[in-house]
Amino acid sequence: MNKESLFLCEAIELAYSNSVQGGRPFGALVVKDGEVIATGVNEILSTNDPTAHAEMTAIRHASRKLQSASLQGCTVYASGHPCPMCMAAMRLAGIAEVFYAYSNDDGAPFGLSTAAIYEDLAKPFSEQSMKIRYVPVRPEARPDLYADWKRRQESRA
Ligand SMILES: [Zn+2]
Repeated sequence: MNKESLFLCEAIELAYSNSVQGGRPFGALVVKDGEVIATGVNEILSTNDPTAHAEMTAIRHASRKLQSASLQGCTVYASGHPCPMCMAAMRLAGIAEVFYAYSNDDGAPFGLSTAAIYEDLAKPFSEQSMKIRYVPVRPEARPDLYADWKRRQESRA
């Protein structure tokens, strides 16, 4: 078996254990230089945290371990197709590569697909199921928020 498949089997084993313990069947690994540096399972039921997906949990553990918000050079192996939140989080973390073993099609018969969210997000804001409003409020007594931040960044440099 190639290394990608071995790491995916490890992610699936995590998903099985989580399922046995009453959690949702998802597990993920963060790998750097061929070594597993962090793992995660879906903890949304045990923590009441809707963002505690396996990939998010693994990313949090990896970032803490590396003491960095950047996970450049890392690869994620996920048992299931990452949802849009996890895909975005991986991009924000600088992860360039992700492998997954169970697709949204595999999950759909069991209510474990996020394909509908992908479809909704691909629409223009005005057509999405969640109301999204751009309200460009600028408090009068304050400098522009972003320009102020930039100035502080530069003065710290
Ligand atoms: Zn997710």
